[in-house]
Amino acid sequence: MINPPNKIRTPKFMSQRLILLRKKVQLICDEIVALQKECSHIHLTKKYGASTGNYDPSSDGYWLDWHCTDCDKKWTTGQEESRLYPHAVDITHKP
Ligand SMILES: [Zn+2]
Repeated sequence: MINPPNKIRTPKFMSQRLILLRKKVQLICDEIVALQKECSHIHLTKKYGASTGNYDPSSDGYWLDWHCTDCDKKWTTGQEESRLYPHAVDITHKP
């Protein structure tokens, strides 16, 4: 059993354990980011997004949501970068 009921977990133990676990999570997140940087994003989708009709038209916004299904990286850019990945599949009008 990982956490026997008769063992008292002190606040100090809990906070030290939490710090250790968060460091492990950070290391794993760093590994995922490093892996995503190595990916060629072969299986990539793009979805056009817009916020229009604002009272102040200068508040309107246009963007692109990208998603690589190989490494699961998701990111957003301006629509002017739509030609960065010509192989990306446009899923804007897919359900
Ligand atoms: Zn990728």
